[in-house]
Amino acid sequence: MVGEGVAGAASVADGTAAAAAATAVDPDEVLRYARALIATPSENPGGTEDEAVDVAIGILTALGAETRIVRSEEQRPSVVARFGSGDRPRLVWNGHIDTVPAGDPGSWTSGPFDGEVVDGRLVGRGACDMKGPIAAALGAIAAIRRAGITLGGTLELHLVADEEHAGVHGTRVLRDHGLLDQDAAIVGEPTEMEIALAERGGAWVTAVAYGKAAHGSQPHRGVNAILAMSRFALRLGEVLPARVHPLVGAPTVNAAMIAGGSAPNVVPDRCEVEIDRRIVPGEDDPEAVLAPFRRLIDDLVAEQPDTHIEITLREWTDAAETTGDTAIGSLVRDAIAAETGTPPPFVGFTGITDARFYINDARIPTVIAGPGSLTLAHTANESIGVDEMVAGARAYARIFVGYLGTA
Ligand SMILES: [Zn+2]
Repeated sequence: MVGEGVAGAASVADGTAAAAAATAVDPDEVLRYARALIATPSENPGGTEDEAVDVAIGILTALGAETRIVRSEEQRPSVVARFGSGDRPRLVWNGHIDTVPAGDPGSWTSGPFDGEVVDGRLVGRGACDMKGPIAAALGAIAAIRRAGITLGGTLELHLVADEEHAGVHGTRVLRDHGLLDQDAAIVGEPTEMEIALAERGGAWVTAVAYGKAAHGSQPHRGVNAILAMSRFALRLGEVLPARVHPLVGAPTVNAAMIAGGSAPNVVPDRCEVEIDRRIVPGEDDPEAVLAPFRRLIDDLVAEQPDTHIEITLREWTDAAETTGDTAIGSLVRDAIAAETGTPPPFVGFTGITDARFYINDARIPTVIAGPGSLTLAHTANESIGVDEMVAGARAYARIFVGYLGTA
């Protein structure tokens, strides 16, 4: 955390430079970057980030960055770009270059990769999640150059693969290469420029009910696995722990997928449900998260002894929590306040982001803050206000100069 002290001592001259950088943001340029990124699909699952990474590297190189591509074993590309002196302090801005699939183009009012601007909003897959925020970060860097500012420290961009599938082939690979070693981190997921300091994690649980097959005309001779699973699924929400995290709220559970039965005239002997249990910071023991579900199964067996349900943890993703009481936390708050006139609140992020790698694994002071609204992410007609994106670029310009100082 060498940089924390350095940034805390930012001079008046740096403050003037930060304001000059914000003023130098070019709205047309930010929009152009976003449209170029949206025009190169990077759907996950279903595609790779290669084409969008080429576009990003073209922009980064033109802006004077040193870039390299770090690939996962599956060859998924993440970009590591560096600007500035190479010295400390070092600040990293992370944004994922993959998107969820566009889905049925017919459910969009304009093409998901056309990047049309409708009523002041840029529409397209990734507009807010998060090619728009990436464009804001790139626009901030362009503005810093245009203002003639040389950064004192080092700004790194991690433009990563695979965040939409938990970052396994993206930020986690950068972590495994030892590349998460900066003094502070910003994850630019869409928070409407509020500052998220905590995020939930997930426990994905597979539940299987076993029954006994019988002729459909004689159900009393069988044990219906679908009915057993139904009794279980209907009560999942009742057994959640009564805990509430101040920023991300309560744990949730969602019965997400179901499969069972073999024919319309057979009593089903198997039913499987995929359960999405979102965990909050402090829930770090998988067995403790599963225990209420096991007790529920015991209760169901007590009520109906032929019930047989088994649960297994398929995947676990940690929640993450940090504090706003850091140099980067207060700097980001001041920079956003300077752009909007109001200090942004500290909030929680309901989804999972790559911030957990910086917070939990690398112990780097981190905030999640970016333009755009998470409620529009993953939807048809995903969009971001062009003004929001530009305000994000201006805030990032202030943050980058404010944290890193000038040479
Ligand atoms: Zn995202």
